[in-house]
Amino acid sequence: MRLRKASALAASVLALSLAATACGGGGDDDTISIGIKYDQPGLGLKTPDGDYVGFDVDVATFIAGELGYEPDQIDFVESPSGDRETMLDRGDVDFIVASYSITDERKEQVDFAGPYFVAHQDLLIRDGESVPNVEAINDLTLCSVGGSTSAANVQEEFAPDAQLEQLGTYSECLTGLENGTVDALTTDDSILAGYAAQEQNQGKFALAGLELSDEYYGVGVPKGETELRDDINAAIAKMVEEGAWQDAVEEHFGPANYDAEPAPEITETD
Ligand code: GLU
Repeated sequence: MRLRKASALAASVLALSLAATACGGGGDDDTISIGIKYDQPGLGLKTPDGDYVGFDVDVATFIAGELGYEPDQIDFVESPSGDRETMLDRGDVDFIVASYSITDERKEQVDFAGPYFVAHQDLLIRDGESVPNVEAINDLTLCSVGGSTSAANVQEEFAPDAQLEQLGTYSECLTGLENGTVDALTTDDSILAGYAAQEQNQGKFALAGLELSDEYYGVGVPKGETELRDDINAAIAKMVEEGAWQDAVEEHFGPANYDAEPAPEITETD
């Protein structure tokens, strides 16, 4: 489906792969490319077997289905927080479903469909420790991901004096939290709950329980792709209406005891 910004090279690669498929006698070779996270249990996780599981994966798969793509026609591509706008702009992916908060700053570079989910920023700390209030965060060494709203909120909103280490993924921060190089990992509670519930992390971490922001997750689309955005909005509305949205929430957040907010109203329209 990605023909929008096809460079000469990309076009020739496409021509080659079409030719290869034609030679192999394949049928419909059209695929859709969707950016997700690979290391966020509950939302987007690539398993050791090469499967993709999580709420964002289910939302992405439902949308793809509404756009006419079977699950085996989806190419999932890892889209780390700091790369999302660039990936959409370059045409690396058709759209992104990756705990991607809708913000005015991001809307200067990309468009969003949705929102389809609401989360809140929180801190993940070592079990047995506590952070009594927002002011106390200023005394901590935090880890978050570069290019995320989580890192920006710390610096611009609620803890400008905190030490903030910015890494490429939240799972890298988790290692720092475990071995004591940072006091807390900060991002959306939906993501943190997934880490805390992982089997290998049982009893190790806990959420501080501070609702530090409202994060409205949107589906990122390349700037100006309004038709695609509208089709995705219709798909999200259908997923909610048919109950598949609620089923996915229960399946993916239930095991982490994460109490998800109800489906938000879709606002990203003209
Ligand atoms: N929802 C926040 C954001 O879009 C944090 C999670 C993430 O980095 O994906 O930046």
